Amino acid sequence: SQISSLRIKDKPEENGDKQRDTDLINTSLLNKLIRNNLVNTTNQVEVLQKDPNSPLYSVKSFEELRLKPQLLQGVYAMGFNRPSKIQETALPMMLAEPPQNLIAQSQSGTGKTAAFVLAMLSHVDPNNHFPQCLCVSPTYELALQTGKVIEQMGKYYPEVKLVYAIRGQKLQRGTKLQEQIVIGTPGTMLDWCGKFKFIDPKKIRVFVLDEADVMIATQGHQDQSIRIQRMLPKNCQMLLFSATFEESVWNFAQRIVPDPNIIKLKREEETLDTIKQYYVLCNCKEEKFQALCNIYGAITIAQAMIFCHTRKTAGWLAGELSREGHQVALLSGEMQVEQRAAVIERFRDGKEKVLVTTNVCARGIDVEQVSVVINFDLPVDKDGNPDNETYLHRIGRTGRFGKRGLAINMVDSKMSMNILNRIQEHFSKKIERLDTDDLDEIE
Ligand code: ADP
Repeated sequence: SQISSLRIKDKPEENGDKQRDTDLINTSLLNKLIRNNLVNTTNQVEVLQKDPNSPLYSVKSFEELRLKPQLLQGVYAMGFNRPSKIQETALPMMLAEPPQNLIAQSQSGTGKTAAFVLAMLSHVDPNNHFPQCLCVSPTYELALQTGKVIEQMGKYYPEVKLVYAIRGQKLQRGTKLQEQIVIGTPGTMLDWCGKFKFIDPKKIRVFVLDEADVMIATQGHQDQSIRIQRMLPKNCQMLLFSATFEESVWNFAQRIVPDPNIIKLKREEETLDTIKQYYVLCNCKEEKFQALCNIYGAITIAQAMIFCHTRKTAGWLAGELSREGHQVALLSGEMQVEQRAAVIERFRDGKEKVLVTTNVCARGIDVEQVSVVINFDLPVDKDGNPDNETYLHRIGRTGRFGKRGLAINMVDSKMSMNILNRIQEHFSKKIERLDTDDLDEIE
């Protein structure tokens, strides 16, 4: 694999801004690597049209889009039967004549990549042997993932060629690229358009900026992207995608995309309503482990995720559980993203029944079939305050799709009892005490 090693630090004391940015990049890639289907959502898309008087089209089938037959074939070969929520509105806008600019926001897994890949493939003319679409991604690894989608969807359209503008990709001076689609990172893309003139930016028809929120987390990427954008012709279609939309992302988006249509799809709310929450009182980590064993002895747990505060605890606990005969998967901070993806896949496939992990590693990951979540350590932020958001994310379920779940919190000090009480107050949901020597009450 050409994928370089991205290392993740998850020591709590390193939770600075830089750390957050690394987490963001890694989570984003991890999500791509483990995603194999659409994220379910019942929310409606919000649409803000550039011209509110023009009719708003949305499609319920790919046929309605009048795609080239080779592309329709590619779409179906990928197993897509109908457009996703966001694609229903985004695709007609992106494929309209004249092309429309778009800013789209929706969480990872809702079909953004597939949508803009289809738009790029639709807009290129394979008879023209020069770049017509540019797609910038925050990292090499993310660019590769998008490239794979282009290759899959363009499987029956082999005349369209793709090239990666990424660091280390050396071309001879004076080269003029023949490929219709160029995908890469902003720095190299900028050099290829400007300094080296491998690409004639004036001939670009579609400019895609993917993962805008991750992009601006990387020093320099924002400026480089804007400089590329400025070289493009006025009538070039500008498309920008992001999973989240903070003020900073929004400001950036508006500099990249003039006169945009805007589509937003809210993330499904997580709730604790369908979760039974308990806590167990212990004195030390050995007692917590014993309590865990008692729980395992008393109830049938198909699959569980166990969260620890540090790598060290996670490693120790995984060892202890293995010794007890459990099949344990450990997700740890020193693992590369690809290794982590492999661990998660094995767990999802049921090859292991227990996943022990630290918080950072598991952020943003959903394993739907898990019905029991154990906070071996309660989630706290870097100042030692309760991290309510993480708590909700670990154990919460999305409303309609949520099955019932069980959450067990391990408390081992006055301090963690205090944290637990504050979490309980925050959500106004009772967390019941569980006596692990008498476990009749759960299940
Ligand atoms: P995003 O870019 O928002 O993270 P993707 O485009 O990567 O989302 O799509 C998420 C997953 O859903 C991918 O595995 C993709 O192949 C699949 N997918 C995308 N669009 C559809 C569709 N219309 N029908 C079925 N699966 C789809």
